[in-house]
Amino acid sequence: MLPLQAGNKKIDMIRACFIRCGSFGLTITDQGANMKFSERILQVKPSPTLEVTALANAMKAKGIDVIGFGTGEPDFDTPEHIKQAAIKAIMNGKTKYTPSGGIPELKKAIVEKFKRDNNLEYKASEVIVNSGGKHSFYNLMQVILNRGDEVIIPSPYWVSYPPMTLLADGTPVIVETTEEQGFKMQPDQLARALTVRTRAVVINSPSNPTGSAYTKKEIEALAEVVGDRDILLVSDDMYESILYDGFKFFNIANVSEKMKKKTIVMNGVSKAYSMTGWRIGYMAGDAEIMAQVDTLQSQSTSNPTSISQWAAVEALNGDQSAVGEMVAAFDRRRKMIVNDLNKIPGFTCLSPNGAFYAFPGVGGVYKLRGWAGIVEKYKSGHDSSRLSSYLLEEARVAVVPGIAFGSDLHIRLSFATSDQNIIEGVRRIDEAIRKLA
Ligand code: PMP
Repeated sequence: MLPLQAGNKKIDMIRACFIRCGSFGLTITDQGANMKFSERILQVKPSPTLEVTALANAMKAKGIDVIGFGTGEPDFDTPEHIKQAAIKAIMNGKTKYTPSGGIPELKKAIVEKFKRDNNLEYKASEVIVNSGGKHSFYNLMQVILNRGDEVIIPSPYWVSYPPMTLLADGTPVIVETTEEQGFKMQPDQLARALTVRTRAVVINSPSNPTGSAYTKKEIEALAEVVGDRDILLVSDDMYESILYDGFKFFNIANVSEKMKKKTIVMNGVSKAYSMTGWRIGYMAGDAEIMAQVDTLQSQSTSNPTSISQWAAVEALNGDQSAVGEMVAAFDRRRKMIVNDLNKIPGFTCLSPNGAFYAFPGVGGVYKLRGWAGIVEKYKSGHDSSRLSSYLLEEARVAVVPGIAFGSDLHIRLSFATSDQNIIEGVRRIDEAIRKLA
């Protein structure tokens, strides 16, 4: 443990989650007992969302009929024209090293995308391609943080922000938001969290795991709090294209030229084009920061896969109709899952503005008559982990415990799965919960 962070309740809680619960408490290994590891890696544990998926898959492989709500990826195939572009790239010999920060054609497509979709003007030198959105955030933290620099992360948060901050010797500062405030950080909360050590503020809209998205007015209010402070705004727009009910996406970089200068906009092709396995993310912002990320990439991963980059050029420049088709399917499933979850005793579920996750509050379940038996049975871990373990065992349904995202009062269900799975999975959850009522 880093002495700097010892005793900080919030950090300890985050660490406890990654170390102890690791979601289901099934991957606990006494790392470091025999082998010497870096303090850096000992601070973090495997991604709980990937872990849940692996667990559900392992059960399926044993012939157990598990319904998985764990995976954070669209269940659609990558659109045909994008696959064809990759095949063409292979056939044309685009199979060699590329510049570490991405091919000029993809940078151009990204610049055009920002102009077209976001009304944001960037030069190619202000854009970089990374090996997935996770890589974008990881590399950014590596180049902007020094030991103890603070990164403000609204909670519930995407599981990987705190570990990636810790891996760069930074200190995550968690700002807790509630269902009542629509899981959105309020300006006064941001004002209270800012210190002289603040280096960056993360904005993830629409959010994984809550699906909440900030309106233009809400973003402007946050920008006002930031004012002239010399900090960075990290806008993770990974779910930008997955919005419902006509919600209008708004980026803090659009508030003013001043805000744009402070903002690093992150995006990628993983979710919008169902390309999670291709590993292409990108970001835009200050040219000097982008140059440092490029240096880091040139000395670590080198270029993102050449073939995937050509596929991403087609994704950004080509026919966009598949995106709308996927969003229409997600929207139908969203309505279905939110409606059904709200009928389960002890569950309350907001309707997400975007992304493909339902994040029901399950605090009411902890008050049900049979809950004491669950606490007795699943001794270790947090309540949301206990509930997830119970649902996996009793209902054969895999969900992600909210504690992985910073809230023990919730669980996350990805509705990027078939209508049939949603109907049957939620029915099973309902049945299992009614046994506790
Ligand atoms: N940001 C958010 C909010 C995400 O949910 C994810 C993926 N779960 C990413 C970034 C990273 O995406 P990628 O798969 O491209 O690494």
